[in-house]
Amino acid sequence: MLPSLIPAAVRTVTAAPSPTPSHSPPAAGHGGGGGLWLLLLLAGFIWLIAHLISVRLHPLRTCRACNGTGLHRGHLFTGAVRACRRCGGTRRELRPGARAPDRHH
Ligand SMILES: [Zn+2]
Repeated sequence: MLPSLIPAAVRTVTAAPSPTPSHSPPAAGHGGGGGLWLLLLLAGFIWLIAHLISVRLHPLRTCRACNGTGLHRGHLFTGAVRACRRCGGTRRELRPGARAPDRHH
């Protein structure tokens, strides 16, 4: 029976699974590093969450204008000082994103 044998041969040829490796390793050079941006975004998000928690726990920080001295020293006459304008002499300032602790009073 030849007619029954020919379609079987055709079927084996056409239905042969193409041995292309579908699960290739993640190509780093493919796509221009889209995964890197995602990783950076994720890192930034984690940093933001950590920063928000940190700001809530410690809303104040050392004043960077006077380095925590509360005084602003004159440039010419170094013995002359005045209260730091940034922190008002309190030696501490509110961190960005933090609320004033006595806002609800
Ligand atoms: Zn200051």
